[in-house]
Amino acid sequence: MECKNCGSQNVKTKVMWGLFAHPGAVGVNCGKKLTGTTASVYSDLCLDCGEINRIYVDEKDLANIKSQEK
Ligand SMILES: [Zn+2]
Repeated sequence: MECKNCGSQNVKTKVMWGLFAHPGAVGVNCGKKLTGTTASVYSDLCLDCGEINRIYVDEKDLANIKSQEK
């Protein structure tokens, strides 16, 4: 993918937010029943200018969120 800010192709995808020792500790709250349930949040980070091009959750977490919306 291409960076929106500088046009560089040097974009690292799926960079996880938060501490690697505690993946998902920082994230979107997706639990209605269990408090503190978070989806892991990722970004695509431009290694040339530092622009964060996307913010998105993992497909599995997205499926969990969808299933709880029913
Ligand atoms: Zn860039």
